[in-house]
Amino acid sequence: MATIQDITFLLVGLIAVFTLATLSPASADEGPAIGSSIESVPVFDAHMHYKQPAWLAYPPSTVIELMDKSGVAIALVSSTPDEGTIRLWKFAPNRIVPELRPYHGDAGSSNWTKAPGMAEYLRGRLAEYPHQGIGEFHIHNIDMSDEPLLREVAAMAKAGNIPVHVHSGAQPVHWLYRLEPELTVIWAHAGMTEPAAVVEELMLKYPTLYADTSYRETDIRGADGQIAADWRHVIERFPQRFMVGTDTWVNGQWDNYAGLITLNREWLSRFPRRIAELIAYKNAERLFGRKVTQDLIGKR
Ligand SMILES: [Zn+2]
Repeated sequence: MATIQDITFLLVGLIAVFTLATLSPASADEGPAIGSSIESVPVFDAHMHYKQPAWLAYPPSTVIELMDKSGVAIALVSSTPDEGTIRLWKFAPNRIVPELRPYHGDAGSSNWTKAPGMAEYLRGRLAEYPHQGIGEFHIHNIDMSDEPLLREVAAMAKAGNIPVHVHSGAQPVHWLYRLEPELTVIWAHAGMTEPAAVVEELMLKYPTLYADTSYRETDIRGADGQIAADWRHVIERFPQRFMVGTDTWVNGQWDNYAGLITLNREWLSRFPRRIAELIAYKNAERLFGRKVTQDLIGKR
């Protein structure tokens, strides 16, 4: 027959096993991973585009409905051309943070820095609408003849106290900070192909460097379904610098919008609540001076 001591011993053993099973070792000091409770955390989508080919298939009301269905409260939107962003923002100003993308007419990702009148175009749009960022723009390589324009872009961002959002490798990020050390930079796709260690090195060097993790979800969540050790390291070191995004650059991304948000919630679920909430919406909330609440969902 079992004694009280035997039962106590058994209970202590069970509690120990349960605790070990629910706390992932790397985040034990922050408490357990948030797990399925991430479902009720609102999301700020920090990398949305509303490009012309999406306008018919996904009118503004449909975009907002997609956000509602996935619990996305607010989105940072940049578009080719900027008119897409303005349409969406006018339709739902409380749900959309407009960001000025330089691309329009013949000016696209590979030639925008050479487009005649680009600085005037940007200045004009910034004066006309309340954009809270300049980007997402690409810098494919370091071309010193682009420096005067990039210097102007950096100066516009600094004057407006708004970030630039750049899709590039590490070198252009260094370049932008050299042009304007007080710049705030959102590094699109967390460097796209740069390793986590490089993201960490740059975040350490530049306290105003943020990153959105669009297109990095499956790098962060490694092949075995666990968070990759190098990404866990940088995210736990700088949890206040990461934001999630869907990058709706083609209609296929819109077709899979709910799936993309689910993918983001899935990797966020493996972090403690404090970190998951920072990345899901609190960092963007702070950066753009917007308040994210569940009340926003279902309204404009
Ligand atoms: Zn991009």
